[in-house]
Amino acid sequence: MKIDNYNFAGKKAIVRVDFNVPLDENGHVTDDTRIRGALPTLKKILADGGSLIIMSHMGKPKGKVNPKLSLGQIKDVVAKALGTDVQFAPDCAKAADQAAALKPGEVLLLENLRFYPEEEGKPVGIDKEDPAYEEAKKAMKVAQKEFAKTLASYADVYVNDAFGTAHRKHASTAVIADNFQPEDKMLGYLMEKEVQAVDNILSDIKRPFTAIMGGSKVSTKIGIIENLMDKVDNLILCGGMTYTFAKAMGGNVGDSICETDKLDLALDIMKKAKEKGVNLVLGVDCVAGNAFKNDCDTQICSVMEIPEGWEGMDAGPKSRELFKAAILPAKTILWNGPAGVFEFDNFTGGSRAIADAVVEATKNGAFSLVGGGDSVACVNKFGLADEVSYVSTGGGALLEAIEGKILPGIAAIKG
Ligand code: AMP
Repeated sequence: MKIDNYNFAGKKAIVRVDFNVPLDENGHVTDDTRIRGALPTLKKILADGGSLIIMSHMGKPKGKVNPKLSLGQIKDVVAKALGTDVQFAPDCAKAADQAAALKPGEVLLLENLRFYPEEEGKPVGIDKEDPAYEEAKKAMKVAQKEFAKTLASYADVYVNDAFGTAHRKHASTAVIADNFQPEDKMLGYLMEKEVQAVDNILSDIKRPFTAIMGGSKVSTKIGIIENLMDKVDNLILCGGMTYTFAKAMGGNVGDSICETDKLDLALDIMKKAKEKGVNLVLGVDCVAGNAFKNDCDTQICSVMEIPEGWEGMDAGPKSRELFKAAILPAKTILWNGPAGVFEFDNFTGGSRAIADAVVEATKNGAFSLVGGGDSVACVNKFGLADEVSYVSTGGGALLEAIEGKILPGIAAIKG
């Protein structure tokens, strides 16, 4: 069912959102982006005359009650965002009476789902090596189904709008869906947008397609790099990965971040790119620093000749030009991971050059998707989030979707 076609009048809707928002030491929300992201879905339900049961996780309480991770702390922020009162259920598994009493237009926020180990469905307090582990896992799966059934019993309809956890088969993100008929379960608006953005990248490709993969390590990005190799025209590999490639090609990378056990993998990626006709763009020069801090001494050098005691911390001017040349003509762009240690203001230049080129290409009609943790922080730091086509709210979920994996949270609804 599509949310736009559903009339929530007189229905109780249980909605899985991602309200895993950052809090300061006093429990105040420091960034409400995720709450705002869910508003179109939540407001549609209330405007139709439905009642809302909102559920989410926060942090990693590992199956135990932890007041520092209580969603009670964000109740008032949610109420303000929705423009209506919000009731709070201090035990998410014992909220049946409060849910039953909800009238149209009323809102109930459940306590952190992960206070129950059943939410994640992993046995707690038992080691994976323990012979009893498999039994404990089976028992936990049964308990997880029961927990999901309890949550489902509060409502007539289930909506999943939590893209950030769509790659997890948890009680509230996937298992719960089995308790609803196909016409009574659906993706929320935010999820629909995320799925559409990934679809633009994977199926509806306008060429040339340029993917920019940065960040610290090849090893964490290899799945996505291999998947993209079949799809892209240009593949820019930047950030800390640069030095593993430079070393694999016989360069001296000084003290740069380098995965010496991945040199063969780097050579293999280069070979595959050649075979598949992908234009692989690697940095040729870098801004090297003599200490891993913002105000260290710097010099521009070739990535193949970085002196001992120095480490490559950002893409150099020639590399930036190469990156720009591969980004500007693109009609589809995916950017994941910074080109340097962008957290230090003196090493933002490479990432900034990429961001500016992505923005320019977008103005010229490209579809640009920026996603996955640090690249989002990067475009936000530059104030450019509104100038790319789509900034994904999902980190791991986005990367898994682009790797071509089926996300359990979406499969549970779409079948
Ligand atoms: P990832 O989580 O793998 O996307 O990596 C993001 C991190 O990579 C950021 O914290 C960057 O500071 C870091 N990074 C990017 N370039 C470098 C580099 N040349 N040396 C060390 N870390 C880097």
